[in-house]
Amino acid sequence: MNGTSETPLDVLIIGAGLSGIGCACRLTLDLPDKSLLILEARDVSGGTWDLFRYPGIRSDSDLFTFGYDFEPWKSDTAIADGGAILAYLRDTAQRYGVEQKIRYNHAVIAADWESEEACWRVTVEHSVTGVRSVIYARWLFSAAGYYDYAEGYRPEFPGEDEFAGKIIHPQFWPEDLDYAGKRIAVIGSGATAVTLLPALAAKAAHVTQVQRTPTYVVSVPARDPLATILQRFLPNRWVYAISRRRQILRQRWFFVFCQRFPNAARRLIRGMVRRNLPADYPIDVHFNPPYDPWDQRLCAVPDGDLFKALSGGKASIVTGQIDRFTRTGIRMTSGEAVAADIIITATGLKVQVFGKYSLTVDGQPVQASERLVYKGMMLDGVPNFSFAIGYTNSSWTLKIGLLTTYLCRLLKYMGENGYASAVAKRPDGQLKTRPLLDFGAGYIQRAVDGLPRQGEGYPWVMSFSYFSDAALFKRGRIDDADMHFSPPPSNSKREAAA
Ligand SMILES: Cc1cc2nc3c(=O)[nH]c(=O)nc-3n(C[C@H](O)[C@H](O)[C@H](O)COP(=O)(O)OP(=O)(O)OC[C@H]3O[C@@H](n4cnc5c(N)ncnc54)[C@H](O)[C@@H]3O)c2cc1C
Repeated sequence: MNGTSETPLDVLIIGAGLSGIGCACRLTLDLPDKSLLILEARDVSGGTWDLFRYPGIRSDSDLFTFGYDFEPWKSDTAIADGGAILAYLRDTAQRYGVEQKIRYNHAVIAADWESEEACWRVTVEHSVTGVRSVIYARWLFSAAGYYDYAEGYRPEFPGEDEFAGKIIHPQFWPEDLDYAGKRIAVIGSGATAVTLLPALAAKAAHVTQVQRTPTYVVSVPARDPLATILQRFLPNRWVYAISRRRQILRQRWFFVFCQRFPNAARRLIRGMVRRNLPADYPIDVHFNPPYDPWDQRLCAVPDGDLFKALSGGKASIVTGQIDRFTRTGIRMTSGEAVAADIIITATGLKVQVFGKYSLTVDGQPVQASERLVYKGMMLDGVPNFSFAIGYTNSSWTLKIGLLTTYLCRLLKYMGENGYASAVAKRPDGQLKTRPLLDFGAGYIQRAVDGLPRQGEGYPWVMSFSYFSDAALFKRGRIDDADMHFSPPPSNSKREAAA
């Protein structure tokens, strides 16, 4: 059996979400002879797309870029609901023979690199029985996501005890929640809040979004009109390739436009919001953020569903500071009262990378915050370890696709040259560093000090540009000056036994 100390796995993947399954499929396609296993802490695959169950759960990226490069998204629905995304990723896992390589209820609690054996010793705890075991692997790919599954970010509000109704965090949506005919307050201004508003408004008496600061919201077509036409006469693979290319260009164009011409971008977004709401709607109160477009993640709403709910009167927005919860809802510092039977705290995620497991190199603990990222996928001084952090300014998966392609190139290179380990070492001397993510979102800012850092120049930067990453990951040098390779250790007990 692979995974023992005598026959370590070639690659061990932590997490069976979109990234872990994508990585396993890419390895299966490019390096079919490599032995691999995925360890998943939960009893199901899908990660985010299984965990979140709130009404209306959907992507805000289009599926042509959020889907895998090797597996076409076959519908013309560009923005898909959570169930469809989950079905797509589970079908893909089946189709590429990855499903049978997932070990469910296997939570990684420690990963220890042993240079003497050029191998990871990974301690796993069974999520149900608590029984611990050890698996050995030559390469570790951490696809454990970026947030805590057990806890969301949930600030305390004064007066919570007084509130007579239910308080719910969207990460833990009760399956049996009956909200028909109820008055609901949704606290937050991010993607979750703007998704919940129209979805809840369909059944609730009224939904009020309570936000401290507005967010940029843009309406995007739920269906891709070009894909709809092309599907009539082109095979799925072609339609997918064309639509994907087009969406990548669109996302990039819009991001660069927002960064270079923030005032023009502001006017463009404002004009779009204006056209979607009644003439007397106070858009400068509720849709006019104090920062520039794309300084924080933009919210996309399919076919303007949020604006329709607001125009129809079943939903409304209150912008301001919450003073306290009362027995009957929320009181703002302005004195305004928001009546509610249910309060949803769409206040965000608790960011956590490297999925709650400890990492050591030859017994020395690895503090993520003291490490630099190499090409946005490895940590300096940590051999044979890579991780999945996707884009925040376009589809997460675009980056994961590129870095897993690169991982295959790297493993192939090591095999061809007889290397057992690869470690990125930061250059000698002072290297100016900066936070990993220059992103204003609250949940990133709360966590950024605990994340690895990035340097000022290639290959020590975390790039958020698909085009420069594509050049780097698909064609860039593997054996650059900062990457150090080593042959199998001569004093290895395993090699001696073999
Ligand atoms: C509600 C919501 C909507 C989103 N919408 C979009 C979108 O439209 N576009 C976009 O680009 N991004 C979106 N994102 C970001 C999204 O999380 C990613 O795009 C993507 O789904 C992340 O996949 P992942 O596999 O990297 O992580 P996850 O989906 O978080 O999966 C990680 C997996 O690792 C497992 N795991 C964690 N720790 C361990 C451990 N120690 N041992 C074993 N297993 C472990 C978890 O159980 C989980 O199954 C959204 C996020 C949320 C929360």
